[in-house]
Amino acid sequence: MTTSDSRQAPSPVGAAARRMLSAKAEQFTESVIREMTRLAMKHHAVNLSQGFPDFAAPAELKEAARQAIADDFNQYAITWGAKPLRDAVVEKFARTQGVRYDPEREITVCCGSTEAMMAVMLAIINPGDEVVVFEPFYENYGPDAILSGATPKFVKLRTPDWSFDEKELAAAFGPRTKAIILNTPNNPTGKVFTRGELEFIRDLCLRWNAFCITDEIYEHILYDGAQHVSMASLDGMRDHTIVINGMSKTYSVTGWRVGWALAPPEATSAIRKVHDFLTVGAAAPLQQAGATALRLPQSYYDKLAASYAEKRERLLKILEQSGFTVFKPRGAYYIMTDISRFRFPGAGGSAAATNDVAFAKYLIETIGVAVVPGSSFYRNAQDGAQQVRFTFCKKESTLAAAAERLAKLHV
Ligand code: GLN
Repeated sequence: MTTSDSRQAPSPVGAAARRMLSAKAEQFTESVIREMTRLAMKHHAVNLSQGFPDFAAPAELKEAARQAIADDFNQYAITWGAKPLRDAVVEKFARTQGVRYDPEREITVCCGSTEAMMAVMLAIINPGDEVVVFEPFYENYGPDAILSGATPKFVKLRTPDWSFDEKELAAAFGPRTKAIILNTPNNPTGKVFTRGELEFIRDLCLRWNAFCITDEIYEHILYDGAQHVSMASLDGMRDHTIVINGMSKTYSVTGWRVGWALAPPEATSAIRKVHDFLTVGAAAPLQQAGATALRLPQSYYDKLAASYAEKRERLLKILEQSGFTVFKPRGAYYIMTDISRFRFPGAGGSAAATNDVAFAKYLIETIGVAVVPGSSFYRNAQDGAQQVRFTFCKKESTLAAAAERLAKLHV
C-alpha cells in the first residue's frame, strides 16, 4: 500500500454524506410473527404464535414429492410455473369459483404467496400510487407497501364483528388508488367478507379503476356455514382482480413455499418478469407434488374444515376459561383476543395501560405459551395494545399443553 493512494474505500460507519443502507429497509422491522416462533423455541413455550400446522401433511402429497425427486424433477421448472401445477390451479379455481383462467397467460407460480404478493406489488405500483388496506392487517402488507413504494391507506375493521364503515372505505379511494388488498378469510380477525361487502368493494374498484388484490390463502378454512366468495367471480371484476393463493394452509405445507398469482394477461406479464428476477422459480419437485394436491377430492377439504372447527372450539373454550375476551373467527385459524381484563402492567409499569408486547413476553417467559402481540397488525401500536392473536393450527397434544399452562393465568 502506498501513502499516495487516494482511492480509499469510504467507511460504512462514518459515511455521513452517503446513506449506506436502504431508507426503505430502515422503515420496517423484522417480522414479529416469526420472531415469536424464535422466542417460543428459546423459552420452550407452546407455540400458538406463527400460523403453521404442527401435524402431518397429507400422505399422498408427501409421496408425490418423493416421487417427483425420484423422477428427477431436480432442475428449474418454467419460470412462471410447472405446467401440471398451472393446469391444476386453474382447473380448481374454475371448479370452485366458476371463473376460468388461461394457464399459459394468466398465472405465475411463486415461492409462496408471500413472494406472489411482493411480485404483484412491484409489478403494478408506481410512485404516488395508493393502496387501500383493511386494518388490522397481516403483517407483510406493511413492508410490501414500503418496498414497492405504495402509500397505504388504512381502513378499520371494528370489533366485535370486524365490520367496516362504508363511508370510511369510500373515502379511502381516490384517483391515486392503484389497488385494495383484501384478505378473506382474514388473518388475524377470522372475518369472512360477505358477498354484499365484496360488491361494495367491487363498485369502488370499478369506479376508481383500481385492482383488487385478494389473498385467499385460507379459502377452505371456514366455520358455521360461512362461504368463501372470490372477488374474481363478481360481475365486472375478473379483469380487475389479482388472486393470490398457495399450498401452505390448505395442504399444511407452509415450508414448501409454493404459491401463485392469477391475473389478466397484461398484469401477468409484468408479474412474471418481476418474479423471474426475484427468485426464478419455486421448488420444481414440490410444484409437481402440488398438481397432486390440487386434485384431492372434495372430502379432503371437508375433513380439513371439520378438523379446524374442532380445534377452534377447543381453543375458544381454553381462552374464555383463562379470562380472555375472544372474537370468534368465521374463517382462517386464528383467534384475536382482548386482554384488557388482565389489566397487565404496560411499559413503564403503568397498571392502567395494558400492553400487548409486555403481556406476550410474560406469556412466553412465565406462563410458557407464545402468541403474537396485537400491535403487529396495526400501523399505530396503540391500536393493538389490548389485543393478542392465538393460532389453533396445532395438534390436540399442543392445545392440551397450552390449556394446562394457561390455567396458571389469572385475571
Ligand atoms: N401466515 C402465518 C401467520 O400469520 C405465518 C406467516 C409467515 O410467517 N410467513 O402467522
